[in-house]
Parts: sequence; structure tokens; C-alpha cells
Amino acid sequence: HNTFNAEQVRQDFPILHQEVHGKPLVYLDNAATTQKPEAVIQAIVDYYRQDNSNVHRGAHTLAERATEKFENARVKVAGLINAPEARQVIWTRGTSESINLIAASWGRSQLKEGDRILVSAMEHHSNIVPWQMIAAQMGATVEPIPVDNTGSIDLAAFEAMLDDSVRMVACGHVSNALGSVNPVEQIIRLAHAAGAVCLIDGAQAMSHLQVDVQALDCDFYVFSAHKMFGPTGVGVLYGKVELLETMPPYQGGGEMIETVSFAGTTYNQLPYKFEAGTPDIAGVIALGAAVDYLQSIDRDAAERHERDLLEYAEAKARAMPGITLVGTAAERTGVLSFLMDGTHPHDVGMLLDQQGVAVRTGNHCAQPIMDQLGIPGTVRASFCFYNTRADIDRLFEALAKAKQFLVEE
Ligand code: PMP
Repeated sequence: HNTFNAEQVRQDFPILHQEVHGKPLVYLDNAATTQKPEAVIQAIVDYYRQDNSNVHRGAHTLAERATEKFENARVKVAGLINAPEARQVIWTRGTSESINLIAASWGRSQLKEGDRILVSAMEHHSNIVPWQMIAAQMGATVEPIPVDNTGSIDLAAFEAMLDDSVRMVACGHVSNALGSVNPVEQIIRLAHAAGAVCLIDGAQAMSHLQVDVQALDCDFYVFSAHKMFGPTGVGVLYGKVELLETMPPYQGGGEMIETVSFAGTTYNQLPYKFEAGTPDIAGVIALGAAVDYLQSIDRDAAERHERDLLEYAEAKARAMPGITLVGTAAERTGVLSFLMDGTHPHDVGMLLDQQGVAVRTGNHCAQPIMDQLGIPGTVRASFCFYNTRADIDRLFEALAKAKQFLVEE
């Protein structure tokens, strides 16, 4: 039973060692984006200093080197999520683009009038709006799976919604707004029993949980590199081969074709069929470095450390008068969402920033669940394994000062 050495891990993240408004930075906005370890930053620099060239087409040494590193990153990501084959890992720009690709390609080829798409009521807008767009085109509907006011999905209500008109169930693994870890194994099983395809939005899961797409048996699993220590601009779409094979291309262009003529064009094989144009090569290679980094740390110990941080923070929040927790599902990770009585989240966030503490405030791109809860948004402190109890002490010291300023004057 190793203890996690967060102090040592912090040394890998250069950005954490700075002052903001004269105070050492406490970074608690990890759900928005995680920071990058030196190895990831170095991978980007090394690529542009040594290997820069276009992938898959060059007949020269640099292009071969870039292609090898680029494709090796695909193998690394496949290994991380236990995908059966690397060609099931498709590069996108992020979670949003992955979901848009599936909605447009799978949706346009599969949906018909009267079909239903179910998404949880606490989804990120990225897992709602692409479905609304394709549903409007195809005469399908998008319906919310009920979530109670603690942030737990109502599985019985979900089961009652299922019948053979449900074609897609799209659900987050971990809620970015409330931190709920959803019972995705059961959701996938129930969706499949009804004959529906199931997509899991893993944007918030990848940095906290060890994901196995074969154990989950999901049809699609999507996430963003920037929320798991990689760079912005790169995302992943994992899909089952039989679905990806039948889906038409999303965008046309170079790389995604086999032959092009004015008489007719044929498409490339997986994964290239879905990768039109020059990709973010440096970003993909740096994501590979992020995977190496994740696999170099003790993930079980990191998970225990994160659980300790959340419990420690929650206990402090419950002990502080005037703080109301938002999102109290039994299974949670990484997120403490709350309100301070008599204040607006934005004012709290601004006063925390002035004390060097970075959090996010607002509806967290999950407006429907905020509407259900009757609040405009929350203050969200989101944790990563490089955070410490000392960071949480700083958060609550800063909250006490904010409260003095906003409430008790
Ligand atoms: N889904 C969830 C659960 C998220 O947290 C986010 C990012 N906040 C997204 C989707 C969208 O990710 P991106 O902006 O990287 O496309």
C-alpha cells in the first residue's frame, strides 16, 4: 500500500511553480484542463526541433520518423484504454469533435424519423448539442435521462425509457459539473439489451480512472488529450470496428481517400478514413508522451490520493458555515462543486483568484442540470493527483477571506 508522493510529482509540472497576485499558485481547475508534465512539453519541442515533416506521404527520413512517432502514439493510446486494435483509435481535435463526428456520420447513416437518442440530464453541452443537430435533420428526438438533485442517474427511470425506438445512448463517464461517476457498465448493458448503440464521454474520466473499453463493452469512447496531461487540439474517438467500418467519412480531403477520380472516389481504410487533412502531428506525439507519463505513475496510489483530497475538501466544506455542496452522488471523483450563501459564484471565483487560487465558476457547459437545480452555476474546485492537502487548506483560507468580504461586511 504505497502512499502517493504528490510533492515529487509536482516537480514534473513546471507551471505549478509560480506566483499569481503575489501568492503561490494553487491550481484547482483541472476539469477545464490539466497541466502538462515536462515530458509532454519536451515532446512538442523535440518534434519541431528534430522531426517536423508531414506524416504518411514523405519518402524521406524525417517524414518516416514523424510517421513512426505519430503511429506509435496511436498504439500507446490503444494500450492505455485496452482497445483491441490501434486502428480503432481515431484522432480528432477533442471530445467535441469526436462526438460531432459520430453524430454526423453514424447519425446520418443510421437515424430515421421517430428514432430516439437518450443523453443524461447532466451532460456537457458537447454531448447534447451535436445530437440535437443531427436529430433535427433526421426527424429523431433527444431526450434526457433523469438525474436526481444529488447528481445520480436514475437507472430505473432510464430502463423505463428504453424500447426499440432508442438508437443511441450517450452518457458521460464522469460529470464535469458535479463529479458524479456514472454507472456506465449498467448503462451500457441496458442500452445494448434494448438494441441501442452506447457512447461514453470520457473527457473527465481519463485523468482519474483506469479505463478499459473492452471491459466496459461501450461502442464508442471519446476524450480530449488536454484533460489528461496532453496538449490542446487533439482528441480521441475509440469505436468498435464493425461500427466504424460501416460509418461514412465525416470530412473529405487528403489522407482519407484511397483513389480519387471524377468518376468516383474510394475511401481509405481505418483509421485514415476519418482523418482528412494534415493532423496535429506534434499534438498526437505529445499525447503519446502523456500516455507514457500516466503509465509511469502508480495509478492505484494516485486514485487513493485523489479520493483522500476529495474527502478532505468535502469535510472542510461541510464544516464551513454558509457553504452548500452541489453534487453529492455516492460515487464521485475530482470535483467539489459548491455555492456560498448570499454570493454569486463569479464574485467568489474572482476573490479566490486574487489570492492565487484558480477555480472555475459558472454553469460548466452543463446548463440543463443547473436549470434543474435552480442555480446559475457553481464554484468548482477540481483536483488532480498533483494537488495536495495544503492546496485545499489554501482554498478554504481564501474562501474564508472571500466570505468576510462578500457576506460579513
Ligand atoms: N465532455 C465533458 C464531460 C467535458 O468535461 C468536456 C470539457 N469540459 C467536454 C466534453 C468537451 O471537451 P473539449 O472542449 O476538449 O472538446
